[in-house]
Amino acid sequence: MPERPDLEYVVPILARELVGLRVVGAAARKPVVLRCAIAEVRGEIFSVRRQTHAVVFGMGAHDLVILPMLAGRFELASEAAKDPGDTAARFLLSDGRVLRYRDDVQMGKVWWTTPGAAIAGLEVGGVDVLGPEFTRERFRLLAKGRRDQAKVFLKDKSALDAMGNAYADEVLFAAGIHPKRLVSRLSPADLDRLHDSIVAVLRNARETIAARSPPLSEKVRDFLHVRGRKDQPCDRCGTTLRVAGIHGHDAFFCPTCQPDVDGRGFVDWRRVGGGEGG
Ligand SMILES: [Zn+2]
Repeated sequence: MPERPDLEYVVPILARELVGLRVVGAAARKPVVLRCAIAEVRGEIFSVRRQTHAVVFGMGAHDLVILPMLAGRFELASEAAKDPGDTAARFLLSDGRVLRYRDDVQMGKVWWTTPGAAIAGLEVGGVDVLGPEFTRERFRLLAKGRRDQAKVFLKDKSALDAMGNAYADEVLFAAGIHPKRLVSRLSPADLDRLHDSIVAVLRNARETIAARSPPLSEKVRDFLHVRGRKDQPCDRCGTTLRVAGIHGHDAFFCPTCQPDVDGRGFVDWRRVGGGEGG
């Protein structure tokens, strides 16, 4: 799924290419992603920005909001080119090109809404983790009183803007913290390490993706240390990486580098038969 580092790369490209153009027609190939009447999407694109893990196209009286979720991606092509089979929605532009929203699992969502309208799952208000206000002190305050597990906390976009499954796993690995550890049981030193890891991992990812400058529709993830690497050896210690289930999501981690000192992860590993996430 596109997460913050991916969108840090994609959004400026979309802004550069699209601001000043008009959407002159729109159609859906896979209507399941739609939360709006696609034919109504029309008008000039005045701005393109990121909101948590969504892309917001500012179009005056309306915003076109696209949340790519797990597998969504954007692509610009000439109108004449044949749409790939995973094209979910297409927006014809005034310069003769088409903006495609591709999504082969159709988990993304498309809204045509009034600016500032609340959208469930796109809560604003989290602290920008790549901004100057995200200090160790601010992070400790955010962590105070939390009763959830570390991974759940990191993914809470109303607190932190923003991490999803992949980068939450990478941050916890960098900090040496088990994904199921309770935030309330992390020491001040743990919290400082976690804060510093959020900044370092997301900055490094942003810089790595920028340096690779992939095509707009391509997601670069091959530099990640744990996400998607179940049963492979840990880059740091060689231990076989594992997966745990957390609230319906999975967490990839190294059981040696990220010790389960609270003892909370153990039961679930057994219950799920040695590592399958649920
Ligand atoms: Zn390890």
